[in-house]
Amino acid sequence: MAPDSEFANASFGKPDFDVVVVGSGFAGLYLLHKLRELGFSARALEAAGDVGGTWYWNRYPGARCDIMSIDYSYSFDPDLETEWQWSEKYATQPEILRYLQHVAAKHDLRRDIAFETRVESATWDKDSSRWLIRTNRGAEITCRYYVMAAGCLSKPKEPEIEGCDCFRGEVYYTSRWPHRGVDFTAKRVAVIGTGSSGIQSIPLIAAQAKQLTVFQRTPNFSIPAHNGPIPTHRLAEYERDRAGYRERARWSRFGVPIELAEIGAMQVSEEERRARYEAVWEAGELVGIGLAFNDIILNPKSNETLCEFIGGKIRAIVTNPETAEALCPTDHYVATKRACLDTNYYETFNLDHVRLVDLRKTPLARITETGIDTTSESFEFDAIVYATGFDAMTGPIVAVNITGRNGVTLRNKWADGPLSYLGLMTTGFPNFFAVTGPGSPSVLSNMTVSIEQHVDWICNCLKDLRDENLEVIEPTATAEAGWVQHVNDCANITLFPTANSWYMGANVPGKPRVFLPYIGGTDAYRTACNEVVARGYLGFVRSGSGQRRVNDGVIRRLQPDVQMLLEAMSALNLPPLEEMSPEAARAFSSELSAVRPPGPEVGEIVDGVLPGAGGDLDYRLYRPATAGPHRVVVYFHGGGWVLGSHDSDDPFCRDLCVRSNAVFVSVNYRHAPEHCFPAAAEDAFAAVRWIADHLETLGGVPGPLVVCGWSAGGNLAAVVCQMARAADGPAICGQVLVTPVTDCDFLRPSYNENGADYVLTKSLMNWFWDHYADPANRTDPKASPLRANDLSGLPRALVVTAEFDPLRDEGAAYAEAMAAAGVEVKHLPCRGQIHTSLTAVDMILSGAGARAEISAAIRQFFHQVEDLVMRDN
Ligand code: FAD
Ligand code: NAP
Repeated sequence: MAPDSEFANASFGKPDFDVVVVGSGFAGLYLLHKLRELGFSARALEAAGDVGGTWYWNRYPGARCDIMSIDYSYSFDPDLETEWQWSEKYATQPEILRYLQHVAAKHDLRRDIAFETRVESATWDKDSSRWLIRTNRGAEITCRYYVMAAGCLSKPKEPEIEGCDCFRGEVYYTSRWPHRGVDFTAKRVAVIGTGSSGIQSIPLIAAQAKQLTVFQRTPNFSIPAHNGPIPTHRLAEYERDRAGYRERARWSRFGVPIELAEIGAMQVSEEERRARYEAVWEAGELVGIGLAFNDIILNPKSNETLCEFIGGKIRAIVTNPETAEALCPTDHYVATKRACLDTNYYETFNLDHVRLVDLRKTPLARITETGIDTTSESFEFDAIVYATGFDAMTGPIVAVNITGRNGVTLRNKWADGPLSYLGLMTTGFPNFFAVTGPGSPSVLSNMTVSIEQHVDWICNCLKDLRDENLEVIEPTATAEAGWVQHVNDCANITLFPTANSWYMGANVPGKPRVFLPYIGGTDAYRTACNEVVARGYLGFVRSGSGQRRVNDGVIRRLQPDVQMLLEAMSALNLPPLEEMSPEAARAFSSELSAVRPPGPEVGEIVDGVLPGAGGDLDYRLYRPATAGPHRVVVYFHGGGWVLGSHDSDDPFCRDLCVRSNAVFVSVNYRHAPEHCFPAAAEDAFAAVRWIADHLETLGGVPGPLVVCGWSAGGNLAAVVCQMARAADGPAICGQVLVTPVTDCDFLRPSYNENGADYVLTKSLMNWFWDHYADPANRTDPKASPLRANDLSGLPRALVVTAEFDPLRDEGAAYAEAMAAAGVEVKHLPCRGQIHTSLTAVDMILSGAGARAEISAAIRQFFHQVEDLVMRDN
């Protein structure tokens, strides 16, 4: 966090400008306009010769937007929306550039922009609380606030190919295309790169050139744009209520107001899946890919079905089977690299004068004076076009030598990947903002929506500072670390980190592999940014005029999928279970269980009956698909001793059975209030004894068991271990207690912190205890195992707790108490999880890591037994 002294003594001299802005693309232009509107003095510095940013530089043939024009445009000026008519569904680069020039002219923005002026360094001067900006023109400008609107894709990547400089023919970069245009007529042309720029330009270059050779290292997924007039239904929707349309875009997942799918790809028949994919193909809309089903970027199996579908289309279009195969992506899931929209891309490879060179088979060796050598062939060309991409997101920012507090450079701070709060600011660099910086939705959204949101946020923040007589703002280290964690948590439940994409920095040699943008959605992101402000600029230190306001904290602490689930549940307004009768609560829980994902396939499921302490008990046995016999785990379901059955925990048992490669026997037990304490505990113990005696009949390996349970089932597993110790058997080699009930009092802090908002509430726990045990019985160790006088000699244990669970602290206390008694214990605290997270298989994807650890622990418990047996022999 920022040291006190700096702010206390700061002398706030008058800088040249309130704000210096870098860039004059979509972001820089809107910033200038908005800052002016709010009465700030501002200057934009722009390396290019005019406004436009991306659309100034990328003038290659075929350059267009890939978000529909009506969406890919400003919304801040309602007049602009009526006076500007887009001519096509996807406007060309010249049309978008004309649009931005029109905006600059309409709002008289050029007078505050210095063109052909590249910012080279920016240094924070703590004594005057100003930024010193130096440019290639030698000028030094001072400002209070420094905003980089330098673009995410504005720094071309070096082609890093040997011999680049020695080619004597014409050389072009799609990202720096000559303004005069290029005529390829009668020329032999090479294009290197098959990302969006290559895919858009290749058909048009082919239409002119005598010969075109495309050098492809990695094939990309592309769907046809079906460009033409703006689809009438969309235009009508937009024109009917422009303001409403824009508002829906602002609160949508990707900044485009289209309906999200509500179903996963594997939940429908093959015919329906295909029909939906055909519709995506026909619609020609990039965001449609991810929205065909709600799990395309989450579930590998679902994604593979779309990969296969697109592969089928490519094979149907491209007549040469070898070329078709080379064009089919096989190394990444669709959408994990930016997918492309094309016009006749695959068809172009059917032309006689167009050839694809697959660099995977014959890598590019070098550029020569006359052409290109691969490892197997020499090619001669008149022109080489590099469509080799960008040093994305961080590249343009760290290209400027930015020095913050204490002489620390941003380049050094970000050496292992960018650290930011909300993608807007970074600790140690006061008053420095980035528009659509790393850690914000940016390139995973319709950029115009994200740009407007960032500009509005930054400008309102500056206005708030001014209104409150403050001048300096900087995020705290805690807030930044929390946000970086959240950004990673969001990415890690998706397939994105599996691809070698520029989103991961993988396209630039030596760049750290970190997922750069925020995949949580523009809607969720906007909510977080608004909430930060509503909570008094949570996570920021703001200071000036002798004041210093510290508001430390983390804006998102729940795992993203847990947060979404809680929001969805809150929207359903479900009745509290504790207001129902036990029968009604059981029926309601069963209804909820019926609509969740089923969990993975196992080798075999056998339902049976075993003798309990007070009559027969149902059980369900899960056998792995691998060759047996297997070790056996006895499992007890959750439900506060009142609810649940082997059905309720079925997906969890399947998942653990597959992951741990052990037989799981999920045992039912008598429920309260019909059968109160100690019925459940006695049933659980009777079941363990019976199973231990019948291991071979059940197809298990003779020897010790592992017991496992979740919640009240965790309580029973713990109790059974104590009962087995007292009875001298059966042999148990490990206990896995998942968010267990271990004590009957509600005094630990987790009950207060988490007792109201995270599904398992304090009042529900009260209801469970009231049904299960009289107050006098609750302190019995068979109800509250933490209360046992002696915990020594218990089996090895894994205790899993969830951060946002009322039971967190009693779980942790039991782990600690067992460890203190000499039991080998591992405590696995699950950050950002709630009581019900880990059993929500395929719903709470962030719980999968903990389930993997649980399974590893189970395998480990059994291995230790096997090691002992081997040693004894
Ligand atoms: P830019 O438009 O990149 O402008 C940044 C400006 O900053 C540039 O003019 C640059 O010269 C200047 N600059 C950078 N560093 C310095 C410096 N040190 N000193 C001075 N000036 C500097 N996004 C979509 O959402 N939909 C699309 O369809 C889409 N199509 C795209 C097509 C192409 C070919 C490319 C490359 C990107 C596309 N994008 C698209 C992303 C696109 O970059 C953004 O949509 C948007 O144009 C970014 O605007 P910006 O103002 O933030 O940055
Ligand atoms: P890109 O997606 O990064 O593609 C670069 C291509 O060059 C890749 O095929 C890459 O192969 C290849 N390449 C890079 N270095 C190479 C080397 N040394 N040898 C051989 N091949 C090499 O870049 P882009 O096409 O310019 O697109 C970047 C982003 O800009 C897009 O993802 C999109 O967000 C935006 N964009 C949008 C549009 C649009 O349709 N509106 C158009 C253009 C750009 P590897 O994949 O193997 O690295």
